[in-house]
Amino acid sequence: GNWLGMIGGGQLGRMFCQAAQSMGYKVAVLDPIERCPAGAVADLHIQTAYDDQAGLARLSERCAAISTEFENVPALSLQKLAAHSRVSPAAEAVAIVQDRILEKAFIGKMGVPLAPYAAIHGRDDIERAPSTLFPGILKAARFGYDGKGQARIASREQALEAFDSFGGAACVLEALMPLESEFSVVLARGFDGRAVTYPCARNEHHDGILAVSTVATEFSAAEAALHRQAGQAALNIAQGLGYYGVLCVEFFVLRDGALVANEIAPRPHNSGHYTMDACVTSQFEQQVRVMAGLPLGSTDSLCPALMLNILGDVWFDPATGEKREPDWSAVLRTPNAKLHLYGKQEARRGRKMGHINLVAPTLSAARDAAAAVAGALHMPFSL
Ligand code: ATP
Ligand code: MG
Ligand code: MG
Repeated sequence: GNWLGMIGGGQLGRMFCQAAQSMGYKVAVLDPIERCPAGAVADLHIQTAYDDQAGLARLSERCAAISTEFENVPALSLQKLAAHSRVSPAAEAVAIVQDRILEKAFIGKMGVPLAPYAAIHGRDDIERAPSTLFPGILKAARFGYDGKGQARIASREQALEAFDSFGGAACVLEALMPLESEFSVVLARGFDGRAVTYPCARNEHHDGILAVSTVATEFSAAEAALHRQAGQAALNIAQGLGYYGVLCVEFFVLRDGALVANEIAPRPHNSGHYTMDACVTSQFEQQVRVMAGLPLGSTDSLCPALMLNILGDVWFDPATGEKREPDWSAVLRTPNAKLHLYGKQEARRGRKMGHINLVAPTLSAARDAAAAVAGALHMPFSL
């Protein structure tokens, strides 16, 4: 009776398993990859494809509640599971969020501002796109992450070339915006419709991949106003989607101070990893609570925090280029550094392998600690 189900075996599923197990639940993970991060710690790993009928049936026989950590799970699989189990988020919500064209139309319908964009189904749509969308970014409508499936384009000609290079798959073309900063809101919404939001994380990306999130406990009046606006937008989006579970909305702050939404993630988010060490309730525990129909926990943060992503790059010796295990003891010499590793089988450049949370009485102390840790790992760090 106390089993929870998870579709997807990546690090988000792993941290979910750990949160669920610490609350006395057993977890069954469905993922095709042997010894995947979540499968390795789950109580049961159903090693099969996300659309395998027999595997899905086993998962839903075992688990009264099922969630996902992976936005590209086939919506049809979630729909099938819903016949026997309580599935959150629902197929209908995930189907919108996993397709940038539907996602942007939905965000716009909720009255939340977006960067100017056009849906691109064929070359004609690029020919017809307003000139205000150039320079821009062409993003494949489906399956993109960490900046993959995107091309920055200076002109209409380049957009046509990029579209062809994506094999003519549906895309959105977005105007390149002058960004002042980026931040995100993580929200949890229970089956009673009650929702809670976490303090906003300010995000820095390198090469399209999240590198650093910082979370202050004190904000300027202008920041606080932006965060309130973003929190309200995220609530409207969750309500409009009929969403139950944990969700993240990414935002841009433009140079003129305006706020625009970028995208929605229908799951706990990399920028919410700081909650594991800095908040009363982590985003993964919140996911457990929603699924199990338990009351939501406090989202209060206890101290300023900084999260540093660990990419596979740090496995490569900067002097020799050879692969070796990084010197974690050098990291942990910084006593307020909390190391989280995902147990991935192979370190590759650009692959998310873990993260480090730095918790400190002030954000500047957290930054100093992060600089020391990054130095020990020979990682670039600048803030
Ligand atoms: P994620 O790993 O967050 O899912 P993704 O591949 O879905 O990433 P986006 O979030 O769309 O990609 O974009 C990645 C980053 O590229 C953004 O965080 C931002 O830094 C930059 N970016 C995206 N769209 C724009 C834009 N319209 N104008 C300026 N910068 C942008
Ligand atoms: Mg994305
Ligand atoms: Mg993003």
